[in-house]
Amino acid sequence: MTIPGIHHITAIAGDPQRNLDFYTGTLGLRLVKLTVNFDDNGTYHFYFGDAEGRPGSILTFFPWPTAYPGRQGIGQATLVSFAVPSLAGWPEKLPVAIPGVRFGRNTLSFADPDGMRLELVENGGTGTEITGFHGVTLSEAGYESTARLLTETFGYQPAGQEGNRFQFAAPAGDVVELLCQPDGRRGSMGSGTIHHVAFRAETDEIHKAWQSRIAALGFNVTPVLDRQYFHSIYFREPGGVLFEIATDPPGFTTDESLADLGTALQLPPWLEPARGDIENILPKLVLPKYGR
Ligand code: ZN
Repeated sequence: MTIPGIHHITAIAGDPQRNLDFYTGTLGLRLVKLTVNFDDNGTYHFYFGDAEGRPGSILTFFPWPTAYPGRQGIGQATLVSFAVPSLAGWPEKLPVAIPGVRFGRNTLSFADPDGMRLELVENGGTGTEITGFHGVTLSEAGYESTARLLTETFGYQPAGQEGNRFQFAAPAGDVVELLCQPDGRRGSMGSGTIHHVAFRAETDEIHKAWQSRIAALGFNVTPVLDRQYFHSIYFREPGGVLFEIATDPPGFTTDESLADLGTALQLPPWLEPARGDIENILPKLVLPKYGR
């Protein structure tokens, strides 16, 4: 049993409209799902991703207009890397982005409007659209226990080291990089920080087996939770980052068609009776126009 790769990454933002405009406009991602935070119904939950809303392309946000800025640091995922076939045209779209090279690939480094660190990684071929995640970087005081979880439990392969950065590749090809910063400051949650990283389980049966396996390893793992578009378990990995394992099914077409993804507010059945109240509380949004 191995983890195929990343399912989604969830972060905290400030102003909802600014967040929506940046990810759909500047970065060209699709708003795959417009819903609310199931634990805080007056807050949106945005899911951005590729045209099909594929696991492995999904970046989600809880945008709180009044959120305090967080501090990026130890015990957090601190960088989201998107894969693009070619970086051509991107420096013009992202004039403040800084070019670089890491593990032999050209990169462009920048931040979103809340200061969250992002990167485009060139992986060859034609086209310039974001195709999904290249990977995620976790900032940790040490790295060995997390490395062991990734390799011995998840089935990732060590893929290289550059200085204090260690790369591990998933079977699907995306990577987790551990940035080892023994003297770093701990991060704190707030806008511009990443809340958790979710990894894929292909079926509910495999997901249940992961729950047992993670528990048997001594992690304080949650029961299986219904997140409407997937089922989830959560646990904190040894370096302090919140990990989730989420199922591929049922996916984002469970409550609206592929063509309609992200065009209207979707609520799970248990919140539908409160739709009127929820819509009154939520900040008003101008949704993106889709031509793709
Ligand atoms: Zn999640």
